[in-house]
Amino acid sequence: MYYPRESSRDGVRIGHLQCERSKMMEWMHIPSGEIGPLPCNRVSSCLPCAVRKTRRIAKYISQSHASLFVTVTGLGDRPERNLDHMQRLVHALRQREQRPRWAWIIEPHRHSTGCHAHAYVRLDSIIDECKWHEAASVGGLSVHIKAFEPTLGGAEYAFKEILAFDTRMTDERYRLVEPAAREAVQSHLNRNSGRLCHFSRGFLLDAAGQPRTLEQLERPRKPDDEAPSEYIVYPASQRDGALRYLRHLESDSRETESPE
Ligand SMILES: [Zn+2]
Repeated sequence: MYYPRESSRDGVRIGHLQCERSKMMEWMHIPSGEIGPLPCNRVSSCLPCAVRKTRRIAKYISQSHASLFVTVTGLGDRPERNLDHMQRLVHALRQREQRPRWAWIIEPHRHSTGCHAHAYVRLDSIIDECKWHEAASVGGLSVHIKAFEPTLGGAEYAFKEILAFDTRMTDERYRLVEPAAREAVQSHLNRNSGRLCHFSRGFLLDAAGQPRTLEQLERPRKPDDEAPSEYIVYPASQRDGALRYLRHLESDSRETESPE
């Protein structure tokens, strides 16, 4: 069962940001009896959901066996053009049989105009750096390739601007940092064409090493998505009723399973 860790110090509540809807709604997975809060998951309008989803994405990337950390420089300030450039880079790599499975995001340069992309890469073959430099130069870009060291902060590095706000804080502190946090999320989404991260097909792996889409990895948070009959959703204030319903179902299935 998952609940945000909260505590209080001198009567002041300290906790992680929490989605307004998840305070009110819960889901229950009927076969396991697992209960969880039902956040709205609207990353563009809900700050807690954006921050939490970013944290989960960093975790999914960390379990996806990336072996390289690639920085792509030479991008400009226009998101659609940058997207185009990244797609062209993949195309040029594919022609050189270096098809990457990757997750990437675009970040602005800190001290000048223009952007760069950070990418976590898994390759089917050993990297041929020449092919990467060649492919990048086709679109006027450059690549800087390093081994990915999961121990050095894992995949959180690419999301540092947003994850800076994923910390326990008092309500008062939250009010102070909220505008900056919203700005960090919004500018990240604007730069990345409305996404927290871009993934190529087959990059993301679950904890068992099986390829999964982001939607599949997020499934427990989207109970209406697949196998909807396995979940019920209810106002958190009615958890007792939901638990009674679960016990009722369990006693029903015991009767049908053991007819003697
Ligand atoms: Zn939310």
